[in-house]
Amino acid sequence: MKPIPYGRQHITDEDIAAVVETLKSDFLTQGPKIDEFERKFADYVGAPYAVAVNNATSGLHIAAKALGVGPGTKVIVTPLTFAASANCIRYCGGDVTFCDIDPDTYLMDAAKLEQILDSHPAGTFSGIVIVDFAGYPHNLEQYREIADRHGLWIIEDACHAPGAWYTDSKGERQLTGNCRFADCTIFSFHPVKHIATGEGGMVTTANPELLERLRLYRTHGITKDGAKLEKNDGGWYYEMQDLGFNYRITDFQAALGISQLSRAEAGLVRRQEIARRYDEAFKGNDKIKTPYRCDDVRHAFHLYVIQVLDRKALYDALRANGIMAQVHYVPLHLMPYYRALGNAPGQLPVVENYYEHCLSLPMYPTLTDEEQEYVIKQVLQHV
Ligand SMILES: *Cc1c(COP(=O)(O)O)cnc(C)c1O
Repeated sequence: MKPIPYGRQHITDEDIAAVVETLKSDFLTQGPKIDEFERKFADYVGAPYAVAVNNATSGLHIAAKALGVGPGTKVIVTPLTFAASANCIRYCGGDVTFCDIDPDTYLMDAAKLEQILDSHPAGTFSGIVIVDFAGYPHNLEQYREIADRHGLWIIEDACHAPGAWYTDSKGERQLTGNCRFADCTIFSFHPVKHIATGEGGMVTTANPELLERLRLYRTHGITKDGAKLEKNDGGWYYEMQDLGFNYRITDFQAALGISQLSRAEAGLVRRQEIARRYDEAFKGNDKIKTPYRCDDVRHAFHLYVIQVLDRKALYDALRANGIMAQVHYVPLHLMPYYRALGNAPGQLPVVENYYEHCLSLPMYPTLTDEEQEYVIKQVLQHV
């Protein structure tokens, strides 16, 4: 049997045809496929605006910059995430304070967030970066209320959660990334994520001023928009108005993204099915803690994370049997880089305890029933 990864992309003949067609077109980059991808993705998540970028890390960087993060800006970030969620603040010269997680949802603990805010003078912090870990969406309405009381912006790193939703206090479903309550939401199109373009990412926002800055920073800080130019020497004329980057995605990646997007819902349904089968198989087993579930929420299941007593033994046994389970994540405050900035073991007991026990089992739409049965059998045998 081929090794079973924890996640992988799903590329169809339609995807390949869409890429080839774009390769034969007039534009490999800066062409019409980018606008189309942005429009369709914005519709998918219910956001007013979307800006496509070359990866989610770039998206996080320009979101932080657009929100005004600069030297000395203090931002509160979850430690249970990929490095980029905190690094984007550091790229801009800002300082990161980590806030511990909720032991059930694994999201930034709202009560601990309030403790940090209340124990510092008003105005100390400018914003928060939260991550819809594993695909479990934040109740953004609740975080917005806290943020407004303390004058904070919110970056939602939703790399795990396209297609997720929660139910607000009025009983309405709020799609992850619709930016009703977050200032910017960031998605990734890395192959292990829901929608794959090789490298790629998207930033959504409901704020037209942020939209403008995101577009500016994506392309060197350069604009050709006549209404914004200080003067106009002629048709060739453009101005670099701020220091930006080249964070553009290509048209053939956008074409792949558009094609992938048309199957995103089906992929999500399949992920739910796989999660239900794992839930069923592990139900009542007191050696395995399964993911937190709540009827008011649609979990996007980028990851299916269990907690077990002896994680290393299970990890090694699964690997020996061709199952490439993974650990998500080593908490960021324990990384040498962030330790050198003043963080230390013992600082965030909930996420540190989680890290000792967590393991991500294979979860992707093309995982077959037979493969999943095999994974379940191996987990039950070795746990
Ligand atoms: C994958 C991921 C990123 C980075 O995405 P790239 O597109 O690879 O830059 C950032 N944050 C989280 C939570 C991720 O899972």
